[in-house]
Amino acid sequence: MNNYISRRGFGRLCAGLAVAALATETRSARAADLPPVEESAAQAQALGYRHDAAQVDRAKFANYVEGSTCANCQLFQGAAADWGPCAIFPGVAVAAKGWCSAYVKKA
Ligand code: SF4
Repeated sequence: MNNYISRRGFGRLCAGLAVAALATETRSARAADLPPVEESAAQAQALGYRHDAAQVDRAKFANYVEGSTCANCQLFQGAAADWGPCAIFPGVAVAAKGWCSAYVKKA
């Protein structure tokens, strides 16, 4: 068995890795390019979503716990970035320092 990779095989491997890296980068860029959720959107209003958790209506959303933000919610799919995808709001991004009543503390 030949354990060496041919020059042509090496070229194909490099090309494949480059395509994979580009695809990953494009996916990340798309997540970052999601438009921000509108606080005035019906679903956002129903869930009490605010871009800034400090502005949550605590009288209306008594389940809010101090320190809870999208960044430490199980449903936040972004890194610790400013904005990221959320399973509750498909197609838009939520603010890392935001909050809504569907909050689930990250395990
Ligand atoms: Fe933020 Fe979690 Fe509500 Fe999504 S479910 S908006 S991440 S608090």
